[in-house]
Amino acid sequence: MVVKKMFINGEWVNSHTKEVREIINPFNQEVIAKVTEGDHEDAQYAITAARAAFDNGEWTNTPASERGKMVLQVAQIIERDKDELAKLETLDTGKTIIESEADMNDIAEVFRYFAGLADKDGGEIIASPIPDSKSRIVREPIGVCGQITPWNYPLLQAAWKIAPALAAGNTIIIKPSEITPLTTIKVVELMEEVGFPKGVVNLVLGSGPTVGNELAVNQDVDLISFTGGIDTGKKIMRAASTNVKKIALELGGKNPNIVFADADFDTAVDQALNAVFFHGGQVCSAGARLLVEDSIHDPFVEALVERVKRIKLGNGFDEGTQSGPLISAEHREKVEKYVEIGQAEGAKLVIGGHRPSEPELQKGFFYSPTIFTDCKVDMRIVQEEVFGPVLTVERFNSEEEVIQLANDTIYGLAGAVWTKDIAKAERVVGKLRMGTVWINDYHPYFAQAPWGGYKQSGFGRELGKIGLEEYTEVKHVFQNTNPQPVGWFK
Ligand code: NAD
Repeated sequence: MVVKKMFINGEWVNSHTKEVREIINPFNQEVIAKVTEGDHEDAQYAITAARAAFDNGEWTNTPASERGKMVLQVAQIIERDKDELAKLETLDTGKTIIESEADMNDIAEVFRYFAGLADKDGGEIIASPIPDSKSRIVREPIGVCGQITPWNYPLLQAAWKIAPALAAGNTIIIKPSEITPLTTIKVVELMEEVGFPKGVVNLVLGSGPTVGNELAVNQDVDLISFTGGIDTGKKIMRAASTNVKKIALELGGKNPNIVFADADFDTAVDQALNAVFFHGGQVCSAGARLLVEDSIHDPFVEALVERVKRIKLGNGFDEGTQSGPLISAEHREKVEKYVEIGQAEGAKLVIGGHRPSEPELQKGFFYSPTIFTDCKVDMRIVQEEVFGPVLTVERFNSEEEVIQLANDTIYGLAGAVWTKDIAKAERVVGKLRMGTVWINDYHPYFAQAPWGGYKQSGFGRELGKIGLEEYTEVKHVFQNTNPQPVGWFK
């Protein structure tokens, strides 16, 4: 098996230690690839390359319209090779091929969107209060950007970072999750066709505490953009303080899905399942906390349980599979621990809570969709991100109560409100402390709309116009059109 390499300064290289990591298919634990395992020295090499490429100005001085065309070419290449990329994503993550195909379409759209934005901001003239002067604001690239991504949406998360950073004229070092690096490696290979100058795009491979930490701590990196867990986010903030680098953090969520009694019952049931069990619940915005108005609580739970029984787990490549395995043995153990915690806390397990028994699923890291009722807001199972197929259900009796409950975690990534009373929906939405709120829907996101969290779900935004601005510095340029001595020092 050929060992996949890192891409540094325009060349494919092995790590200096020559260590190799095996990449596993979570459906059957087969080794699907071997990749070189970098460490902090390899990351330093990539940072030096990205620094030199930024400082020599070739990329920064490339007209924004040209940069946009090159980013557009990435979109076109991804679209051309999307079938191959989708297969690789399913192999590496276990998610269904339909999900992977949808991801690839979204990824191409993200590159297309930022390609279009690249030359749209021509700066701003401001009304100077000083006579005989001109005052303007320009946006400039920040510099060298370290970008660290998680395993759940490997290429999608990489696209959210790579596309705006390049469109804005930065140089990048991308570090995918060590568990799922394959599609990111493939896209960097494909990006060679576009011909970005040497050192503009760098890819490093390896673990978080070595390679990732170096990107966060190194003084030659100007910005660190991280998507992952809250504990890692805190470490990155500390490491980034060395040179006060800019930070963008997209962390986890424990997202409330609020169903009022006047909601369309069947649609709300259907979407509540999709909100939490899509991709085995391994979604930062998963609707893992269901809050149901008391008067419909029991039939709602009954309908959910009926539907959960029919969820088809299996190989992501098989037609009919609705959910694949969890990403790793370790992650499944974490989910199992939370189920034990929930039971010990007194939540009532109404379905799931075990590994599936089908013989064909035994090699994969599968876990059965699980629902807890009788949940209280102070339980750990309600407060903490499980990141698996586990739904907690709470009851509420009033608008005020549900707002209070929904906001009562450290997270603030996303949430949803289901009701036919739009005035009520707007009242509730106005009080939810979350970066994205859906009314009568769950999950939609797209390149045009910003994505990010309130509270400990992070700060900074990806996607949308603001997603490009995050990769820029703001400069105020003041010009005196009639210079005169000030005369202060006689
Ligand atoms: P993780 O924090 O374990 O790892 C994420 C990345 O950080 C990986 O590339 C890892 O190698 C790296 N890393 C680990 N330790 C590091 C360190 N000390 N310094 C620098 N880098 C380090 O997260 P994960 O398990 O890969 O992903 C799951 C988490 O990601 C969940 O909490 C989920 O909610 C979150 N997530 C958030 C969003 C969002 O948009 N807010 C999207 C996807 C995933």
